[in-house]
Amino acid sequence: MKNYYARYYNEYLWLIREDSWVKDLQGIRESQLALGNGFLGSRAVLEEIPYDSKPGTYIAGLYDNVGSQVSELMNLPNPFNFKITAEGEKMGVATMDVIDHRRVLNLQQGLLIRRSVFQDTRGRKYDYQSMRFVSMQNKNIGLMQVIFTPLDDKAEITIETGIDTSIHNAGTATEGRKKHFKVKELGQFNNEGYLIVESFGKQHKVIFRSGFYYETNHKKIAAKDNVFSLKLKKNQTVIFTKMFYINAFSGESDIEKIKTKTEKEFRKAFSTKFSTHLQNQTKQWARLWDNAGISIWGAPETEKNMRFNIYHMLICAPHDNGRSSIGAKALTSEGYRGHIFWDTEIFLLPFYLYAMPEAAKNILLYRYKRLDAAREIAKQNGYKGVMFPWESAGVGKDETPDRARDLDGKIIKIHTGSLEHHITADIAYAFYHYYNVVGDDKFFNEYGYEVMFETARFWASRVTYNKRKKVYEIKNVIGPDEFHEDVNNNAFTNMMAKWNLLTAYKLICSLKKKDSKCLKDITQKISLSKKEPLAWKNIASRMRISISKKQVIEQFDGYFKKKNIKIKSWDENFIPIITDKLTPRDYNKTQLIKQADVIMLLYLLSDAFNAKTKKANYEYYIDRTIHKSSLSLPVHASMAVELGDKNRSFRYFNAALHADLSNLHKNTHEGVHAACIGGTWQVLVNSFAGIRIYKEVLTINPSLPKMWHKIALKIHFRKNLIKLEISNEKIKLEFVPGNKKRKIKIRVFGILYQLYPGISVFSRSKYLKEKKEEYL
Ligand code: BGC
Repeated sequence: MKNYYARYYNEYLWLIREDSWVKDLQGIRESQLALGNGFLGSRAVLEEIPYDSKPGTYIAGLYDNVGSQVSELMNLPNPFNFKITAEGEKMGVATMDVIDHRRVLNLQQGLLIRRSVFQDTRGRKYDYQSMRFVSMQNKNIGLMQVIFTPLDDKAEITIETGIDTSIHNAGTATEGRKKHFKVKELGQFNNEGYLIVESFGKQHKVIFRSGFYYETNHKKIAAKDNVFSLKLKKNQTVIFTKMFYINAFSGESDIEKIKTKTEKEFRKAFSTKFSTHLQNQTKQWARLWDNAGISIWGAPETEKNMRFNIYHMLICAPHDNGRSSIGAKALTSEGYRGHIFWDTEIFLLPFYLYAMPEAAKNILLYRYKRLDAAREIAKQNGYKGVMFPWESAGVGKDETPDRARDLDGKIIKIHTGSLEHHITADIAYAFYHYYNVVGDDKFFNEYGYEVMFETARFWASRVTYNKRKKVYEIKNVIGPDEFHEDVNNNAFTNMMAKWNLLTAYKLICSLKKKDSKCLKDITQKISLSKKEPLAWKNIASRMRISISKKQVIEQFDGYFKKKNIKIKSWDENFIPIITDKLTPRDYNKTQLIKQADVIMLLYLLSDAFNAKTKKANYEYYIDRTIHKSSLSLPVHASMAVELGDKNRSFRYFNAALHADLSNLHKNTHEGVHAACIGGTWQVLVNSFAGIRIYKEVLTINPSLPKMWHKIALKIHFRKNLIKLEISNEKIKLEFVPGNKKRKIKIRVFGILYQLYPGISVFSRSKYLKEKKEEYL
């Protein structure tokens, strides 16, 4: 039997494979092999929708809140539903014997391809092949082809397709499953079906259109309905092609207008051949990989696994000018209700800064457009400026639920929404990171400065002065380590606040010289008094931080007095094993922590700490961190690279790299771990390759694992393109200027250079020689 999609199975290093049908892995595969284009996300559910499968179709930024404590990403009707019954028996992995089953996610082109051979109860075999994708070219379009052949006998088959409305959100532990939409209208005309659903809470309207035809015996026939029968001879192949269109409109939109507008758009796409759509898909993906791809000589498997991670960041990159941002599970599931955490700005943003600056801009615009909501949160809590919500969804209010399941399944009250305040500094940090890497003055004049100043203002109102100690303190918070709630002076929060205040102050000083008109406009806009920036500087200089004699930063007041339990053993994935009989509620009595906290601080504010302090803290906290959040591992990997802990850096990196491929945290079925994915990219690019901003200058100082001979990638830096080939000894760099400024400062192997257009080569031995001379 011909393998119709054989050419898409070839490039092993671009394929994520499922080589057999294993029921227990179904949910994991649905997340891993998900498709998306930034607007639309679709879980890789099998077309026949087996029992226990979890179809998921999401539009970025489309949340609704009926029946939930808070808004959640709506799970929409499933357009990839396609059921075949042959001679009265339903085709599929759960209903027939599976003789053969393979699926691949082709990362290079964003295609999901399948081949299954089934056998019915009378021993007759059927060949089933399919390919589907959501278009990168036209974000509203998805396509699917199914190729079906009865192998042993003639067969009468019934097809049932259309857009499946029997979909609901899985719901969370505390609420149970729920449906967010009702069907408003559906119809069928001109060989095309349409469906309009409306969300219960916010009346979002979502329209689907779909068209469907089949080809057999060299004839193309338009299907008039979603359910129909066909008689096939033995070995007669039929190719079904289905295309759908999906778009969302606000509650007030007029249904008739929506129908007219979308009809035209759908018709245009539907009159284009499947093969043309496929070609466009290939072209668009080639463009994406050209920018974002990373080659690693000497480690093909790592290269492939990194591609998987990059793929997931490409399929959720926002393109909508801040209408949406990326949730903790990206667009692969409604886990964490699709909410947006600091994961996006701290863990994912660096990838977009260097590989897709437009998407980075959109991520920040999402926050900027919700600044009034953040002002309101600050006001409600008695603070000034802007206070960003710990969990955000559609409109930017705090969407953190007040109950959730604990690590052991117990339902507990959660306080992160009211206490995890560091997110406000994290977002300021992200804006400043954008400023350094993308260097977009216009963006900063319009949006960035306002965010920097309003966040500083928040911290100035958030701190309290301790007269006795003559320091500013931040009380009643939760730091990144969520095991310890309601603590005082969490070092991470205090230092990030300090950074925020000081950076805002410095920006005002430099703006005074650079663009006093801009400063005047912003000052007027947010009624900033002259005294405020001086107060920021003063608070920053007296922020409380407590460091032991051995240079260990106390995570929060009283942390060192907690029961000093240390981790003694690790599993094969390098995840700590806790032997003491502790329940998750006991952790707060101990020094065990959920995830990088002080280490997170040392990583983000790397320039502010010396190597000795970093080492002391790394050694201390590494034995007490149990990595119950997937984003902890990559941060540890990065710190290990920086401190030259080669063994650990590689192990942490590998564990993080495999988080979703190996279902390391046992919950990939609830969606991929977006922050871990972004964090792993940072380990590779910012730590191993050593490409980062150090004291505002682009710096490259690699420390690649021994077996990696060389890596190659492109980065965008201040509107320029830089093509890099990096090994530990030599860096080849091609600078392609993107604006009038035809030189940039760069620090390579520790030495500052001016970089001019064209190719430059740097070698470490030369650096070592020069360095030696410097010290002589
Ligand atoms: C982590 C947070 C993270 C959130 C979403 C939590 O378990 O502690 O740091 O933002 O998950 O990924």
